[in-house]
Amino acid sequence: MSGHKMMFSGLKLWTKGRIRPAWISRFHDGMNGRGKASFSTCSPKVCIVGSGPAAFYTAQSLIKARQDVEVDLYERLPVPFGLVRFGVAPDHPEVKNVINTFTQTAKHPRCSFYGNVNVGKDVSVKELQQAYHAVVLSYGAEGNRSMGVPGEDLAGVYSAKDFVGWYNGLPSCRELSPDLSCETAVILGQGNVALDVARVLLSPIDILKKTDITQPALEALAESQVRRVLVVGRRGPMQVACTIKELREMVNLPNTRPDMVAADFEGVTEALKDLPRPRKRLTELMLKTALEIPGEKEKRNKASRFWGLRFFRSPIEILADPDTNRTAGIRLGVNRLEGSGEGARAVLTGEVEDVTCGLVISSIGYKSIPIDPSVPFDSRKAIVPNNMGRIEQAAGLYCSGWLKTGPTGVIATTMNNSFDTARSMVEDMDSGTLDVSTAKTGSQSIGALLEKRGVKPVTFSDWEKIDIVEMRRGEATGKPREKLLTVEEMLQVARK
Ligand code: FAD
Repeated sequence: MSGHKMMFSGLKLWTKGRIRPAWISRFHDGMNGRGKASFSTCSPKVCIVGSGPAAFYTAQSLIKARQDVEVDLYERLPVPFGLVRFGVAPDHPEVKNVINTFTQTAKHPRCSFYGNVNVGKDVSVKELQQAYHAVVLSYGAEGNRSMGVPGEDLAGVYSAKDFVGWYNGLPSCRELSPDLSCETAVILGQGNVALDVARVLLSPIDILKKTDITQPALEALAESQVRRVLVVGRRGPMQVACTIKELREMVNLPNTRPDMVAADFEGVTEALKDLPRPRKRLTELMLKTALEIPGEKEKRNKASRFWGLRFFRSPIEILADPDTNRTAGIRLGVNRLEGSGEGARAVLTGEVEDVTCGLVISSIGYKSIPIDPSVPFDSRKAIVPNNMGRIEQAAGLYCSGWLKTGPTGVIATTMNNSFDTARSMVEDMDSGTLDVSTAKTGSQSIGALLEKRGVKPVTFSDWEKIDIVEMRRGEATGKPREKLLTVEEMLQVARK
């Protein structure tokens, strides 16, 4: 904590005969979350919408590239870090280490975090544009691709987005309480998110209980009857979208046996030599797992849980139990491939196959949604149309992360595309395309607007209070943290 911040955090400022909450004082007096006087007339003021990897990497890059730029992050939730907190699997703590870098950025004297501000609702993009020289939209991909098949709304069908949000403590998914009383779960999609979900469903509780998975999810998984998880893809083994690390984790999962269909791998051995290296290694591992030598298989025979990749299948219909109207199975259409390699297309053959299951999780992709009608949006691609991060036909508006590229790639991919956006912005500032010569009010005027609307932002030091409470709660049960599960609870702790 800086000396400045300590000085100002206890300061009571009076306005029209009443006490102003600390955050309003900071806004009005031109103070940012770090208690630093930030209202300098000539500095370029940039506002970023979101606080996931894209927002933090864009901010980091801008601050580094220009010594005068000031960056404010506006985040819908009271807590920062986006999918690093609410997406990355609880048993992948090493991935979450990026939070340390993000925290350094947030604590930089020229960066401020304002959580609990829903852009598009509490404040419009136009209002942000009036207050800042540039606005970067980095609000990710919070929508869901639907399967478009009958039965999709049945009890027992979930999107991976919600299921992941549930075990990771996303407030909007708290009530999901998925029914895990069935024996077989089918996951549609074969990317890393699908494998994360399969792994969480089948992992021994002793492993999960040492992670930051939420307590309600841990309890539900401890009682889970799910013994078999099928991970279904439209195309073949040479087209899967997962990476080798996630596949290897499945193969090595204790007390669990892979159960593949050898016939799906016909011709794969012959094709191996022509595959690019990462795809070749991934396919070799799948092949080895599918055609496991008998000795290995025996070793695993004691396993009580099974998982398998199922290929060349598309969902046709979710089947209901006529008595309970809950999910009782899934009808899959059998596909053949047209073409080869990455570009091969799945074509239905007309043959179908029913699989009995009580749980269907669709992991066929996230998608961005428009948050403000004034911002151009390509509904077909579900991204904001842009050129190197410059939003088309919207001067002063930029985008980064999954909103810019679509929901693909790991954090490192998001980092690179966010650095590219920052580079475009710096170029535009340097060339004068982005006019930063006139003074802008920045957080000062936005703070006043929010106050009028009854919205109270959460600063980064407020988040640190939440962080401490969560870590303390986790300590009591041997977990790295026990997350607060509602916005109300988060705000209560933040305002203490
Ligand atoms: P996000 O991380 O989604 O951040 C967007 C932020 O914007 C959120 O904080 C959101 O609350 C906020 N926001 C949304 N709407 C508004 C609004 N209206 N106003 C203000 N704020 C708003 N990558 C890895 O490298 N390793 C992994 O193990 C890994 N696991 C993953 C697991 C899952 C389930 C998923 C979905 C992704 C995973 N990724 C992983 C990919 C990684 O999470 C993404 O590359 C990255 O998070 C994308 O960053 P982003 O900032 O664009 O979006």
